[in-house]
Amino acid sequence: MGNFGLRDALDGRWAHVRQAAREQLAGSRFVAVPGESLDRSRERISRLLRELPIDPGIAAGFPIAYGGSADPGGSAVAAEMLAQLDLSLMVKAGVQWGLFGGAVVALGTAKHHDAYLRDIISADLLGCFAMTETGHGSDVQQLRTTCTYDPETGTFDLHTPHEAARKDYIGNAARDGRMAVVFAQLITGGRGYGVHAWLVPIRDDEGRPLPGVTLGDDGPKAGLLGVDNGRISFDHVSVPREMLLDRYGQVAPDGTYSSPIEDDSRRFFTMLGTLVRGRVVVGGAASAATKNALTIAVRYGEVRRQFAAPGERREIALNDYLAHQRTLLTALATTYALSFAQEELVSTLHEIQTADRPVDEHRQRELESRAAGLKAAQTWHATRTIQACREALGGAGYLAENRLAGLKADTDVFTTFEGDNTVLLQLVAKGLLTGYRDTFGSLDGWGRATFVAEQVREMVLERTAARSLIQRLIDAVPGRGEQVALTDRGWHLAMFEDRERHLLDGVIRRLRAGASRKPARSFDIFNDVQDHVLSVASAHVDRVVLEAFVAGIARTTDPDARDLLSKMCDLYALTTIEAHKGWYLEHQRLTPPRSKAVTGMVNDLLKQLRPRLVDLVDAFAIPDEWLACAVLREEPERQEAMAAHDLLPMPEPASSAR
Ligand SMILES: Cc1cc2nc3c(=O)[nH]c(=O)nc-3n(C[C@H](O)[C@H](O)[C@H](O)COP(=O)(O)OP(=O)(O)OC[C@H]3O[C@@H](n4cnc5c(N)ncnc54)[C@H](O)[C@@H]3O)c2cc1C
Repeated sequence: MGNFGLRDALDGRWAHVRQAAREQLAGSRFVAVPGESLDRSRERISRLLRELPIDPGIAAGFPIAYGGSADPGGSAVAAEMLAQLDLSLMVKAGVQWGLFGGAVVALGTAKHHDAYLRDIISADLLGCFAMTETGHGSDVQQLRTTCTYDPETGTFDLHTPHEAARKDYIGNAARDGRMAVVFAQLITGGRGYGVHAWLVPIRDDEGRPLPGVTLGDDGPKAGLLGVDNGRISFDHVSVPREMLLDRYGQVAPDGTYSSPIEDDSRRFFTMLGTLVRGRVVVGGAASAATKNALTIAVRYGEVRRQFAAPGERREIALNDYLAHQRTLLTALATTYALSFAQEELVSTLHEIQTADRPVDEHRQRELESRAAGLKAAQTWHATRTIQACREALGGAGYLAENRLAGLKADTDVFTTFEGDNTVLLQLVAKGLLTGYRDTFGSLDGWGRATFVAEQVREMVLERTAARSLIQRLIDAVPGRGEQVALTDRGWHLAMFEDRERHLLDGVIRRLRAGASRKPARSFDIFNDVQDHVLSVASAHVDRVVLEAFVAGIARTTDPDARDLLSKMCDLYALTTIEAHKGWYLEHQRLTPPRSKAVTGMVNDLLKQLRPRLVDLVDAFAIPDEWLACAVLREEPERQEAMAAHDLLPMPEPASSAR
């Protein structure tokens, strides 16, 4: 069973964190409980939160001086591991240590760190990250909560002016949170300075709302029952001046505002950029849950049998059907590809967040763009794949005891929180078009499209991983066309790059044409090409992912693992090209015969990989008890009993489906 070379390749740089989690969280104590009530789920998750290890664990990201290990990469990987046990527990821990604690670290200064971080790490002080309002989720620059400084009292007045400005969907708000990092418009001396954050107590020690604070419960949700999401409103709550998290903007006792970053919009995006880890974690957690689902579906498909070949008595294992392989193996290839891309993203995050001198702005922006793109890619892939795995178990997939229903419900919202995927892809495209998204501020700043179009291009196709290797592979492609092998890696890379470049050229052309038409409303110029913009972003993410896969294979030394990964990479590349056949044919990048040959090659690869299907999921090394799937335990015995019974004389099996 298993293939350690493959497992090592997937475990990657933080293999020690993954292994420690497998050991420290062994057993089923932390595993999701199907069919639990809302109250029991919340109570269980709150209790378990305090039992989670700090190191390795999500809290390992905190500075060493306060009890963390200053290991942001390890923290992100620990969150992935927790996601394989219980997504509510992972999200609750993510709210406490990633969002709430992370905001105190990133936006606060030493006085806040000294006063609160130890209690945040120990979970003695539970808190919320209160950014979203009922009226504004994606466009948080437009939040309506105000926090107005009064030099007479030396305090801020925090206020929710109307219902659309109440904080909504906030994790830890309905039950457990005692404090919140609250985002609001900072006003002092009669002028607004944009969105800032304050640390605000919301409940007393007995859990009662503090004066002026109204707390509500979002109630039952589609999933993540163990997380108490709720609403918070403020009625002129007085907040001491020192509670402003003032790393990026300070207010003096007399009300004078100062900041190292003059431009309000740029300051805001810089502040948001420091919170990028949450997005990285959500993408990784979605992939971790996808790995659970695929492991369940593949192992089930190996033992479950349905229909017999004509003239044969023994029925066929589901995994032997091409349609099943088309679903599971192709999703598995994408999951492998995304794993390597996530590993690279976490490494970049780690390098940037542990650098001992300020990181240049371009690298930070690139990290944010990549985090946005991969979060969208991984969460959408999770949603599609977990549904496919649910169907791959037939009726059994629908029963809560077989885990997939829970995985589906819990990961659903991952496409929305930590940034709606469609909005995130626009950020990726904006990054490609401008190089520096803060030049343009919020999305409506796209009116300067002609300016954008003049400047771009050369940054766009910067290599992402293993730059020289990838360039060498592309340069070695022996011309374009029919003669290049369909499994030529350089050809795959060139095809992905070509699609990205061509789509981008098209967007630039269309933006220019739009801007030259009079009268040109800036919103319309951008909106008329929005579908095209999203395609550019997707094509870019596809290339980033493929390049990461290629780099991952180059790092793998075990020959068997390398060979398997190489075939999986072929499968990922060719299924992606196949999915965009229409585009490649329309743009004469594929002839019709070669396009058909791509499909033939995909099927051929499925046949080659079929015997290793179980090894490919075993390499995720998810402990059996973490899968928590009843039918995986029961089905092998049932099949054995059936096989023994089938030795008796029986009527010929039916040959057609119901
Ligand atoms: C379970 C859960 C937990 C959460 N936890 C927290 C938390 O702890 N703290 C917190 O602050 N927030 C939290 N959120 C809020 C979450 O981050 C927001 O819901 C999310 O950012 C989306 O905002 P919205 O709901 O206002 O949707 P909207 O922004 O209104 O989006 C609705 C739709 O409009 C589309 N859309 C929006 N803008 C554009 C555009 N420019 N172009 C094209 N389409 C567009 C989107 O694609 C989407 O389909 C949580 C949400 C949920 C559901």
